Amino acid sequence: MTEAVRKLGIMGGTFDPIHFGHLVTAEAARKEFGLERVLFLPSGTPPHKNPQGVSDAEHRYMMTVLATLSNPYFDVSRVDIDREGISYTVDTLRILREQYGDDTELYFITGADAILEIMRWKSSDELLQLAQFIGATRPGFELDSIPPETKAWLDQYPDRVHMIKVPALAISSTDIRERVRSGNSIRYLVPEPVEHYIRRNGLYK
Ligand code: NAP
Repeated sequence: MTEAVRKLGIMGGTFDPIHFGHLVTAEAARKEFGLERVLFLPSGTPPHKNPQGVSDAEHRYMMTVLATLSNPYFDVSRVDIDREGISYTVDTLRILREQYGDDTELYFITGADAILEIMRWKSSDELLQLAQFIGATRPGFELDSIPPETKAWLDQYPDRVHMIKVPALAISSTDIRERVRSGNSIRYLVPEPVEHYIRRNGLYK
């Protein structure tokens, strides 16, 4: 079993590339929920995405390592990218539950848009037993805009799904990729080592 941690944040995302919005989200969740560590988990082959449209997992992993190095509370896990096939979050959480043991509370953190789809993810009820979920909302996100059937499903788990507002999520990976493609600056949107990594490896051209 891995080191004893009472409350573990698991920051799931494609991170293509990781940016300051993700880092601010992880830090905000860590403080608000009293998490002892946050494990960044670059996704392997996401269930809902065409693998051809996503950068190589090793590039996304390396950028995540570079971005998180300076925060002693942050770690990066290869659990998703080293697994063959589609990476379903329920399988990831089962592995982490096994690694950390039943005394560790797991908090899965990701974008609110993704969280609102959980009811359609594989083994959705088990997911809510394995972990609590924290959805980070971008500026302009309105809770009122959640479809009624999603709201009714979420209402069954009042203490298991939480939303946090993250103004820094005005930054988005899609916008960063587009900026690189069109030759615009991404300075101050991603940590400097990530900016250098993107340039050196010719990503998003
Ligand atoms: P996505 O569809 O690429 O992203 C949805 C939205 O959330 C985007 O606006 C994205 O912004 C934002 N976002 C993504 N990760 C974030 C994070 N950690 N913190 C704050 N905002 C975040 O979502 P994804 O990255 O592919 O999936 C998110 C997580 O859910 C992954 O761990 C994935 O494996 C899991 N997932 C599981 C299932 C399943 O088990 N069936 C299905 C879907 C997703 P940016 O583009 O700026 O990041």
